[in-house]
Amino acid sequence: MNVLTIDGSLGEGGGQVLRTSLALSLVTRTPFVIENVRARRKKPGLQRQHLTAVLAAAEVGAARVEGAELGSQRIVFLPRELRAGDFRFAIGTAGSTTLVLQTVLPALFAAPGPSTVDLTGGTHNPMAPPFDFLQHSFAPVLASMGAPLALEMRQHGFYPAGGGRCRAAVQPAAWAPCELLTRPERPRIRARVVLARLPRQVAEREAAVLRSRLGLSADAIAIDEVAAASPGNVVMLHLQLGQVTEVVTAVGERGLPAEAVAARAAGAAEALLGANVPVGEHLADQLLIPMALAGGGTFRTVRPSQHTTTNAWVIERFLPVAFTMVEDGAACRISVGPRG
Ligand code: ATP
Repeated sequence: MNVLTIDGSLGEGGGQVLRTSLALSLVTRTPFVIENVRARRKKPGLQRQHLTAVLAAAEVGAARVEGAELGSQRIVFLPRELRAGDFRFAIGTAGSTTLVLQTVLPALFAAPGPSTVDLTGGTHNPMAPPFDFLQHSFAPVLASMGAPLALEMRQHGFYPAGGGRCRAAVQPAAWAPCELLTRPERPRIRARVVLARLPRQVAEREAAVLRSRLGLSADAIAIDEVAAASPGNVVMLHLQLGQVTEVVTAVGERGLPAEAVAARAAGAAEALLGANVPVGEHLADQLLIPMALAGGGTFRTVRPSQHTTTNAWVIERFLPVAFTMVEDGAACRISVGPRG
């Protein structure tokens, strides 16, 4: 049996190397061993979210797994078959539900029938795709690439209590390449401020910053007070960039003033608008696997992060594709095509 060895310390050396390896091991039915899992993180090895991702992938792929324990830095993963079905994955902490979904999604698109996935954990985490990003930014691009994904929010979940619930319904994909190169001169911007168990005034102070800094009108800003197991605050900016809606996010933290949260989101939006590209840093990360599965595609984005280049490297280990990244000032054109 040909077993691929992946060094988890390469490049960015975080959880993405593991998630991408699991995803593509399932799709290609390639067994792999990953060493030095998350070696470049303060707490290396599997944290709850990563362990849930390994167990979720094992279930979807009827896989044999070694090393599926908290803290584990070496995992052996031997997938056997791809299953469609109704899955439930609970992280047990506020770990990101969306990153667990990201791990099994490519496999479910390749599975023999439709699936649903019910996830419990965090829905809006710093350093992970917020649920709204998946729903309003990623899923529409996937739909345009022939991969139907419907998402439903049931309960918001924030650090530290988690307890968020969301559901994904996935249909088998008929992949088609994407081409995302241009964006309109003056993109429309809408804001959604989510608030749980915090005074409404927090959201109003954030809205004031968004109005003055981005020139948003009051009716372009929605304030949603939601139920959750612990307090939470998220500022999300939807930028209409032609075919793409980008969702730029800042997650509130204890001790961080409301104005600073809104300013973070506004600053990230201004940087993306200034780069004059349709695809931001995080969407760029998420699009690499779909494009590779489609066997082609191209988009213009910001200069790639180490996260993006590491992800491309892992994908090239599993699939017969090659990425090209051509930088042009602050922008970059990323393309994928068959290797050789
Ligand atoms: P670690 O890196 O500590 O192992 P991890 O597994 O939680 O942690 P990363 O490997 O850093 O996470 O991956 C985080 C993922 O979340 C990446 O795909 C990144 O693009 C995405 N992401 C982070 N922040 C956002 C955001 N604001 N919007 C959309 N996606 C995001």
